[in-house]
Amino acid sequence: MKHIVIIGGGYGGVSALRTLANTKDIHITLIDRHPYHFLQTEAYELVANTLPFDKTIVNLHTLSKSFGEHVTFIHDGVKKIDITQRCIQCDKVMPLFYDYLILSVGSVTRFVNAIKGLKSCSRGVKSMTGAFEMKQFFEKELYLRLENAQQAKQHYSILVAGAGLSGVEIAAQMQEYFNRYYKSNTLACNTLKIHLVSGSKTILKHMHPKTSSCAYKRLEKLGVILHTGAHITKIKTDIAYLENKQSITFDFMIFTGGIMGSPLLNTLGLSCNKLGQLKVLNTLQIAEYPNIFAIGDAAEIVDKKGKILPDNAQVAIKSGICAANNIKQLLKNKQPLAANIKLKGVAIALGGRYAILDMEKIRIYGIVAYYLKKIVEKFYKWPLWLRCKAGYEKTTSCQI
Ligand SMILES: Cc1cc2nc3c(=O)[nH]c(=O)nc-3n(C[C@H](O)[C@H](O)[C@H](O)COP(=O)(O)OP(=O)(O)OC[C@H]3O[C@@H](n4cnc5c(N)ncnc54)[C@H](O)[C@@H]3O)c2cc1C
Repeated sequence: MKHIVIIGGGYGGVSALRTLANTKDIHITLIDRHPYHFLQTEAYELVANTLPFDKTIVNLHTLSKSFGEHVTFIHDGVKKIDITQRCIQCDKVMPLFYDYLILSVGSVTRFVNAIKGLKSCSRGVKSMTGAFEMKQFFEKELYLRLENAQQAKQHYSILVAGAGLSGVEIAAQMQEYFNRYYKSNTLACNTLKIHLVSGSKTILKHMHPKTSSCAYKRLEKLGVILHTGAHITKIKTDIAYLENKQSITFDFMIFTGGIMGSPLLNTLGLSCNKLGQLKVLNTLQIAEYPNIFAIGDAAEIVDKKGKILPDNAQVAIKSGICAANNIKQLLKNKQPLAANIKLKGVAIALGGRYAILDMEKIRIYGIVAYYLKKIVEKFYKWPLWLRCKAGYEKTTSCQI
């Protein structure tokens, strides 16, 4: 019986698991350092307190259980992989061996070294822990302002550095939430400011100019203070210094300026790009090790024309399905197929019931885009939750 190991139960790993799970005569082991799959695409809702934390996760224990005895979930961190011996070493459990390996360890926030003080003075939103801590921090601040009229009058600034998808979504959602909160509590809202800093002349620079300008107007309307073409050079405790000699004083800083491959990838001795993501063939295999696949944010994935695809959940899901199907091909002694991933479009949440759905040729703005985004999110997580429910019932029936 072949043993397939998937490291990382995020969008990519979970999609690979679902695709492989119905294959006969294999054993699948999913390993993740967390017992849940964090739905990062909904992190902005968690931070802005519009979604409870249990609605932003999928339990990996019960999900794995739902597929049957041939799927095992290990809640542990992988610290080393010996790719010549096909052996994985975790923090706690015994080493395990694989026939096929899927690396879906995702990415981490890239705190740029050139910006002095960035790492120590700001926080990233890639992890559930980070997002959850932020949510609690802001909730406490709002509560203190409610209790204490003096504190409510004090200025409070949040600095979001990085105006890509995650920075824009977080700034918009939080500003909208604060506006709503202050209105309902009849407190002045002009003491709480969100600054969004973009290094380029615009925001959402990789997107269509119409999308970028519409998002800009929406953020302005919400009251977010935008700083475009602004390069942060250094950060000292609570002040961000810009290249143009200006500075922004903040109480809390969120950095969403970039990602890099998970640190584990760098230890493998395989070819990586400058962001530490693994280079893969169009079949998503590692050239020297055709039994190893890398997917999602962990890999540099290109489309049919050789253009590098963005690091997003859609690419992670599609690459996970492709890698799993290619393992099925190899199990049948057939050739693996090229991934040829095509993006259907990107949805950007911009506070409240407002979003932009950018499908290259067609763009939808406002409440319709918002509900379409919600439908896409629900179509992803509801089937997983149903599986978790079935997995939970299996677990409890075994215990009786
Ligand atoms: C705030 C925010 C908003 C976003 N919004 C969108 C959006 O609207 N649309 C969109 O398409 N994309 C969005 N993205 C990007 C998207 O979330 C990522 O591209 C996607 O999560 C990548 O999926 P993945 O499976 O590669 O990695 P992940 O989902 O990050 O999963 C990686 C998994 O590997 C595990 N892991 C890592 N290292 C180890 C180890 N050593 N041992 C064991 N386990 C390990 C982690 O615990 C994690 O569960 C957003 C990202 C953020 C942060």
